Amino acid sequence: MNSTGGPANGRTNPIGRHLQTSGGLRKTLRTAGELGCEAIQVFVSNPQGWAVPAPREDGPEFAAGAREAGISPVVVHSKYLINLASGKEEGREKSVRALAEELAAAGALGAELVVVHSGSHGGDGAMEGMERLVAGLRQARELSSEVSGETDGAVPAEPVLENPVGAGSQLCSLFGELGEAAERAGVRVCVDTAHAFVAGYDLSTPEGAAGVAEELRAALGERVAMFHLNDAKNELGSHRDGHRKLGEGQVPVASWTELLRAFPGVPAVMETPYDTPETDREEVELLKELAAGLPKERGSV
Ligand SMILES: [Zn+2]
Ligand SMILES: [Zn+2]
Repeated sequence: MNSTGGPANGRTNPIGRHLQTSGGLRKTLRTAGELGCEAIQVFVSNPQGWAVPAPREDGPEFAAGAREAGISPVVVHSKYLINLASGKEEGREKSVRALAEELAAAGALGAELVVVHSGSHGGDGAMEGMERLVAGLRQARELSSEVSGETDGAVPAEPVLENPVGAGSQLCSLFGELGEAAERAGVRVCVDTAHAFVAGYDLSTPEGAAGVAEELRAALGERVAMFHLNDAKNELGSHRDGHRKLGEGQVPVASWTELLRAFPGVPAVMETPYDTPETDREEVELLKELAAGLPKERGSV
């Protein structure tokens, strides 16, 4: 493990991946070390259900261990069911409450960022959906300090808004809309590269990726808190989700160098399919090399 913390070799982007917690958080940290992760993402509850995150006895030990190992940031991905833009009041209230609970649980693990999907307006139009999303983010933050027992109104962790694939009535698949929501809600964002690609942002050549990076920088600038750096399974503009390991989907690995070059210091966390520990470690290593501007002669360039 890189016990000195942070990236080396002139590289500025912390690199890591989503990890499982089913074997306990101690095991998660061990895996992070084995894979060479400098940043990690975890779930704090079943993302497919509404169950409240269970208090974890190993939380403080995990927070201390991650800090000691120099892993930063620790990211939590919130429930997929959360839809702050929902047209149904009950769904919206449930979503605000759920995000607040996830923010509190993230804080208890020492996690700094909590990724939340921008949601769908459900047919009421983007303007209406945007109002609800912005209000929901504000409410969830307020409620999170209450849930976590903060008396001074401090927020236990920072919500970051993730761009979707742009299917149906999903909001914020375009950088302009994502930027508007982020600015109005006073939050930063997590840009999922596989989602951006199938939403129509052409990363299929390094030149294309440089152009996309420029567009992203113009729309969001300092509001880009992190990347979900995933290769896309599906075609450009298909609006169909699906992640692939780097170099195994639609995006040549050299595109990642162009993208990360435009965002120095911004963490990149992969949510690519799990393989053997060796293969996963190689993928982390590959992205580190790409982030250092040294594309490897392998994969589909
Ligand atoms: Zn996500
Ligand atoms: Zn993602």
